[in-house]
Amino acid sequence: MHETGIAVEILHGALRAMQEKNGGRATQLLSVKVAIGELSSINPEALRQAWRAVVSESPHEKAQLEVKWCPVYRKCPSCDTVLANECGLLDCPDCHGPLAVEGGKELELESLEFDQVRNTQPQ
Ligand SMILES: [Zn+2]
Repeated sequence: MHETGIAVEILHGALRAMQEKNGGRATQLLSVKVAIGELSSINPEALRQAWRAVVSESPHEKAQLEVKWCPVYRKCPSCDTVLANECGLLDCPDCHGPLAVEGGKELELESLEFDQVRNTQPQ
């Protein structure tokens, strides 16, 4: 199950991003949103399970993972018409130019939330 390695990478990336946004201070991670592409060979349900297992062994056991699923799509480079990949069309219905197949390769940290209150408390 390679989703475990991906969940670990997402957690590490999120913790780095959190510290950057928070002036280098560590705090409690609350939620992470990732964009996962259809072609990334990641199973979103397996990734959610792996995430639960990974965060339960970290100080961020309450952190939620939100998966934004990014399917492959077809796009006309001439007029920017966007169609579902399942449409089966090779040519743009608007300008009849050839459609390009795009998207689906995403594996990106979209956004994250963390607890900022903790930093205002004295040690
Ligand atoms: Zn077009």
